[in-house]
Amino acid sequence: MAHPYFTPRRKKATKPRRDPFARFIEKVVIQDNGCWIWQATKDTAGYGRFFLESTRATLAHRYSYGLRGVPMDDDMLGCHTCDTPSCVNPFHVYPGTHQDNADDRERRGRGRGAQKKLRMMVA
Ligand SMILES: [Zn+2]
Repeated sequence: MAHPYFTPRRKKATKPRRDPFARFIEKVVIQDNGCWIWQATKDTAGYGRFFLESTRATLAHRYSYGLRGVPMDDDMLGCHTCDTPSCVNPFHVYPGTHQDNADDRERRGRGRGAQKKLRMMVA
């Protein structure tokens, strides 16, 4: 029986994880273009997965957006201004609706097509 005034440190079954931000930032490599590239687990779409708790994963870019002070609404998508799914720079992420995201993709798709055409013409 432990002394009432002295509780020895015991290893708990569920050991507390380190500060989420400390764990988050060590998985990030900052590129020259300003993108914070996620180095840990990614989902099939290329979005970083971040474990807030051992059983609760969130998307890394959604977590990073929350670092700005206002967490993203669950029904909003984390869209990227830089078109890089694995980027977790909080300032490259903005909350958008599914429609915004589809419009964005469409717009970028056209942009890419146009660039490709241009390259073919120049080549
Ligand atoms: Zn970025």
